[in-house]
Amino acid sequence: MMEPKLIDAHTHVQFAAFEEDADFVIKRALDAGVWMANVGTQQDTSESAIKLAEKYPEGVYATVGLHPIHTDKSFHDEQELGGDNGFTSRGEEFDYELYKKLAKHSKVVAIGECGFDYYRLQTDSKKKQEAAFIKQIELSLDVKKPLMIHCRQGFGDLIRVLGMYFNQGNSGKPGIIHFFSGNLKEAATLLDMGFSFTFGGVITFSRDYDEIIKLIPRERILLETDAPYVTPAPYRGKRNEPLYVVEVAKKLAGLKDASLEEISEQTVKNTREILGI
Ligand SMILES: [Zn+2]
Repeated sequence: MMEPKLIDAHTHVQFAAFEEDADFVIKRALDAGVWMANVGTQQDTSESAIKLAEKYPEGVYATVGLHPIHTDKSFHDEQELGGDNGFTSRGEEFDYELYKKLAKHSKVVAIGECGFDYYRLQTDSKKKQEAAFIKQIELSLDVKKPLMIHCRQGFGDLIRVLGMYFNQGNSGKPGIIHFFSGNLKEAATLLDMGFSFTFGGVITFSRDYDEIIKLIPRERILLETDAPYVTPAPYRGKRNEPLYVVEVAKKLAGLKDASLEEISEQTVKNTREILGI
């Protein structure tokens, strides 16, 4: 079987933004040797990520989970759900048994994206987000698949909750912090618990992540696009897609004083180890 050249460890080709051409987008990526994990954000997008993965013998995987913003009723994103159902998310409660059934599917490689998002905070969201996150940590331990964590402005709570399950000095690989935006101290604590980090398009046009990337060991860094969002340079303004992960790899190589080939090999190895693909 063909070996991947690069892996986009966090993307969303199952979203409505790719409704017309998901299969072409995936073919372009696979032809270039780019594998991907399509990340679920709620019930619908978890199920559709699995359906998409089922169409390909290898190279396309899924994660299942409930994103913190979908634990409440307000947020909408038409790129995710499409025009007709893009106005409100339902405010989903995490249904453990339903997600467990999905999680056991052979193409499912992680649980999430789950965690905390305090960027657009509703009154009692914090409690709902925490309750859904705890259930997803328990599911991850239950089915022995890693966590795919989303965290925006909630690193204090993230570290407190993860600390109830994972020790400092943990030798396992409990999961991935996607699109890491915390500080150096938070990165050090999460590294010590065994977590790895994905970085995406933002590192191609912002200098804010340079210092932290230099400090995180190569063995703990993975690549992502988070498509259709956060398109890397030089494609800014266009819809993002997994093929563009090479631009993130090039930038990372520069920051790590490595060749593109070294970074590609290292991140593929890291991703395959964590996701078991
Ligand atoms: Zn995402």
